[in-house]
Amino acid sequence: RAKQAGGGQAAFFEQGMGEAAEQRFRVERELRHAIGAGELRLHLQSQVDVSGQVTGAEVLVRWQHPRDGLVAPGVFIPVAEESDLIVSLGEWVLAHACALLAQPVFRERRLRLSVNLSARQFRQAGFVGQLRAVLAATGADPRLLTLEVTEGLVIDDFDDAVAKMRALAALGVDMSLDDFGTGYSSLAYLKRLPIQEIKIDRSFVHEAPTNADDGVLVEGILSVARHFGLRVVAEGVETQAQADFLRQRAPDIVYQGYLFGRPEPDVQWLERLTQPA
Ligand code: C2E
Ligand code: MG
Ligand code: MG
Ligand code: MG
Repeated sequence: RAKQAGGGQAAFFEQGMGEAAEQRFRVERELRHAIGAGELRLHLQSQVDVSGQVTGAEVLVRWQHPRDGLVAPGVFIPVAEESDLIVSLGEWVLAHACALLAQPVFRERRLRLSVNLSARQFRQAGFVGQLRAVLAATGADPRLLTLEVTEGLVIDDFDDAVAKMRALAALGVDMSLDDFGTGYSSLAYLKRLPIQEIKIDRSFVHEAPTNADDGVLVEGILSVARHFGLRVVAEGVETQAQADFLRQRAPDIVYQGYLFGRPEPDVQWLERLTQPA
């Protein structure tokens, strides 16, 4: 039954641990071990412009579990977020993403990497200093790095978030508002947040060509983004109709979605990029 959920998630639900709390505890314990044991993997999903040119990728973490196979972040990120584990996991991801970004191909081809930040990680007092240290240690170009945060993270402590975003902007790092449109007061925040990019949530992208309400919402988001000079990434683009809808209204949009490529292991993504089939 649970196997249908596919690979990694399955076994987590087949251990006869009825209690959700117990399962969470087990995930937490195994994940704590996994970070040091080198079981985390970076997968990359391409971002492409309307001409089909790859502009970069989003970094999506996976857990290569010794027994359960490749586990998706939906299973372990929420667990990690309930403890300090998300901080060490986030540090691991950021350090390895920056090491990847330091490879010459990114500079040579002006490719960007986007990394997801969780609230607890971003709120750490030393976050900006830590990132600066990672950039220096790896030699990654901060101008090729984008950090994705969610509205919820910003709302919880607006002034602190703005101060951190300014400090990050001073480093040359771009900030992106992820899953845009799913939170509250989205449009009002755009006026006050020092961000460079928004990612339209895939729920709007999916319905835009077929549902007039979603279509108008997407048009509104695009128009506001244009006004504020923000780069727009559309997430979850799966059909040509969705891509066409967006391109007709925003020729400088960046697509991300299964239509253009699934997340794949970092090594594989780099190989494909440097020796196209
Ligand atoms: P997200 O940042 O919104 O990432 C996009 C998610 O949408 C990814 O799921 C991606 O695989 C999926 N996706 C991409 N294209 C399509 C599409 O065309 N159709 C559909 N249906 N889905 C698509 P994934 O990899 O399972 O990641 C889920 C979430 O886990 C991410 O959502 C992000 O919030 C979180 N996450 C992933 N990696 C990290 C990380 O390193 N740190 C933190 N804090 N969170 C992470
Ligand atoms: Mg994201
Ligand atoms: Mg997203
Ligand atoms: Mg999302």
